[in-house]
Amino acid sequence: MTVLVFWLFFVAFVSAFAAQVARRVQLIATAPYTFSFDDLGFRVNRFLVDVVFQARTIRERPFAGIAHAFVFWGFVAFGGYTLTEFLLGLGIVDLTHTAWFAAYRVVLTPFAVAVLGGILFLLIRRAFVRPVGLGTKVSIESIVIALFIATLMITYLLTFRLEEGTMAERVNWWIHMLVILAFLALIPASKHFHLVLSPITVFLKSPELGNLPNLDFEKEQVGLETVKDLGSKSVLDAFTCVECGRCQVNCPAWGAGKELNPKTIILQTQEALLAGVHDRKLGEVYSEKVLWQCTTCGACENQCPVGIEHLPVLIGSRRGLVSNGDAPDYLGAMYNNLERRSNIWGLGYDQRTKFVQSAALETFDPAKHDVLVWLGCAGSFDADFQKSLRSLFAILRAKDVRFGVLSKERCNGDPAKRTGNEYMFQELANGNIEDLKAAGAKKILTSCPHCVKTIGNDYRKFGYEVEVVHTSVYVEALTRSAESSAKASAGREPRETVTFHDPCYLGRYAGKVDEPRNLLTRFGADIVEPERNRDNPYCCGAGGGLLFADKEEEPGSRISDVRFKQLQATGANTVVTACPFCSIMLKGAQASAQADTQFVDLMTYVNGKLQPRV
Ligand code: SF4
Ligand code: SF4
Repeated sequence: MTVLVFWLFFVAFVSAFAAQVARRVQLIATAPYTFSFDDLGFRVNRFLVDVVFQARTIRERPFAGIAHAFVFWGFVAFGGYTLTEFLLGLGIVDLTHTAWFAAYRVVLTPFAVAVLGGILFLLIRRAFVRPVGLGTKVSIESIVIALFIATLMITYLLTFRLEEGTMAERVNWWIHMLVILAFLALIPASKHFHLVLSPITVFLKSPELGNLPNLDFEKEQVGLETVKDLGSKSVLDAFTCVECGRCQVNCPAWGAGKELNPKTIILQTQEALLAGVHDRKLGEVYSEKVLWQCTTCGACENQCPVGIEHLPVLIGSRRGLVSNGDAPDYLGAMYNNLERRSNIWGLGYDQRTKFVQSAALETFDPAKHDVLVWLGCAGSFDADFQKSLRSLFAILRAKDVRFGVLSKERCNGDPAKRTGNEYMFQELANGNIEDLKAAGAKKILTSCPHCVKTIGNDYRKFGYEVEVVHTSVYVEALTRSAESSAKASAGREPRETVTFHDPCYLGRYAGKVDEPRNLLTRFGADIVEPERNRDNPYCCGAGGGLLFADKEEEPGSRISDVRFKQLQATGANTVVTACPFCSIMLKGAQASAQADTQFVDLMTYVNGKLQPRV
């Protein structure tokens, strides 16, 4: 009789679970296939670090992370116990009186205590502390799930106190098993489904931040237009979101008061998928306005603990809008410049030629030169940034580095790619690849982190592989011998307090955070770190084509103003940057604030200090 009743409960709850899971699996399976298994070694390593050891969760929020890790490890550890009790309840086999089960129960006891402590901590945090990323409303569902988990652990621990065969012991067993079944039925429709999906999502997340596979125009791919265009990884992501809000609180657009919230983007995707509105335009699901507010800084997907990738959705949707002629006007002007003059400002190439001549730059020849210096749009046309490049050339010459430049460059295509104009990106990329191959470049040196990412990573998707090094990395290695003389004179020279703004495409995308700091400290600077630094910087607001946006029309504050205030708050009068676009944005913010903070490009800073010692 007891077995029969248990079977009835089992079938009812498991059917509810299976129906909900089947709906989600069907949506994932019928979406355009975008799963990838490249770089297996990296994926396995990340799986071990982020899933098994929960390193990312703990690193970002140590207390909540450890509490969460206890719950996760307990969930895994209790798997065998739960299965054994189900086998008993269903009358299949009784393994609960075996010696191994007795030993297993003893091993599980510390897990049960840790899970109980962890879940109570998380419950208090969610119900009373309420961190901003979790939203303003207390989630009843989360409270119920937390109470379920606490009940499971308490009923487990009580098994050591209650005598077998007594009424109390039977009631305790039933409570334990019914809570598991209710938990099972509840989780697929809740954010706790991440318990099941996140190990898969983390494994499937691209090893490359902001991975945007090329569109294949021969297959008439145009980007994401409607809900049914969302790829299988994006659909899986939508059901994995744990609504922790880490993407939200780290998003510079959200931080500056714009409408864009990366967490909302994922939840809107989930809602649209479950509502079955497959033909709904993504510009309506998210709102077009919101889609153009992303700087592509990568903070959202870099911070997400469950492997969700926001940029394929955001930029994929931009691609869909661009292919339908729905890009904002300011981008139309920029695309026009790229089309007519192959640079973002639409300036004539004679200006680049004049700079090349005035800086006495030679045309790259692999027989004569060690490296090819890629000037980029800013280096070719922005008079301010050209001062930085002159400093770079002085350093290279002082160190006898033989370098040359291309006789002609196009924009690398980053502004086209990140704004969704894939056709234009591919045209620019193919032209540049042809020229770089013809020039025989083996190593490219550039002061623009966007060029590092685009030429070094995105061009690989066309089969072109070349080493691209940011000048901070190259010059750091080049001047290591100057370290001892710098140290020797350090006691005699006054040191200067500076702050360093990590560009997103250098610190977060390329992970180069030590090299610029080594250079600064080596050449007389004491660094005061701003809020948001190293591999999680706050964006300057230029990326994703927003350098060209009409600042007067932006809702909320300007991202560059928010960042400038963070830099100012360090108290340092000198801000060092290492990206032409950060420099433009932050100098604009400084002018608006009428502050006397001085901005110095890293190469100019180093050259000024290095010259007497070389
Ligand atoms: S890439 Fe940056 S700006 Fe865009 S949604 Fe993510 S965090 Fe926000
Ligand atoms: S997308 Fe990731 S970081 Fe953002 S709320 Fe969901 S789980 Fe958290």
